[in-house]
Amino acid sequence: MFKRTGAKLRRDEKTQQKRPDPVLKSPREIQIMREAGRIVARVHAALREAIRPGVSTLDLDRLAVDVMSRYNATSCFLGYRGFPANICASINNELVHGIPNRDRVLKEGDIISIDVGVRYRGFIGDSAWTYAVGAISAETQRLMQVTEASLYEGIAQSKAGNRVIDISRAVQRYVESHGMSVVREYTGHGVGRQMHEAPQVLNYVSDDSDGRMLLRPGLVVAIEPMVQAGTWQTRTLKDNWTVVSKDGSMAAHFEHTVAITNSGPEILTLP
Ligand code: MG
Ligand code: MG
Repeated sequence: MFKRTGAKLRRDEKTQQKRPDPVLKSPREIQIMREAGRIVARVHAALREAIRPGVSTLDLDRLAVDVMSRYNATSCFLGYRGFPANICASINNELVHGIPNRDRVLKEGDIISIDVGVRYRGFIGDSAWTYAVGAISAETQRLMQVTEASLYEGIAQSKAGNRVIDISRAVQRYVESHGMSVVREYTGHGVGRQMHEAPQVLNYVSDDSDGRMLLRPGLVVAIEPMVQAGTWQTRTLKDNWTVVSKDGSMAAHFEHTVAITNSGPEILTLP
């Protein structure tokens, strides 16, 4: 859920403008983010149970809100730059930012990527998963497996002393070694009181972003490989939100909110 701003960054550098510094979180703040992350995980657990043929993406949106409100959390997507729903629900060739709708009904063989972001006691938790609806093709299964595994490759690099680009490189290498493509136009990000903080966490190696930034204890990042079976290019539908693969190929998205600690990465959005 982050349109990359690399081109803008190059302009900033020319005009000597400084990229925002990452906001490091105190142990007390990370404790709140841990609770926010746990709520996100509970929302996903409820969605996982509910996903089956015949369910609409609006049904899933309502379920997500029910779970959030049970834990005194709210969606941080609703109203974000005008986004009209509580979760993003993207089916098959849709990559991200699908808008829940009562007319989008799941069918056997679909995959659905659901992005959940909550605000709890002033902090954000952010996690996305792609789910299979009933039985799916072996090829699509492989896309999901590679995307999820690439997230864990990135998380393994999320340790103090490494740089952001180490995460990007690990994700890209893994995905491309399996013959699939990482999307360039959307990226992971720092997360905290704001959904999108510095640094940008690209899913590929590039030297015109925050890649050189050192990972330090207290930094919290949302790592989110967005992977397509075919080309890496995307386009946006007429609703101005839904992003689809340009070639119509299947798309998958896995994301966790991860804290950098002295003892390694801690995934905050696990149950
Ligand atoms: Mg995110
Ligand atoms: Mg997200």
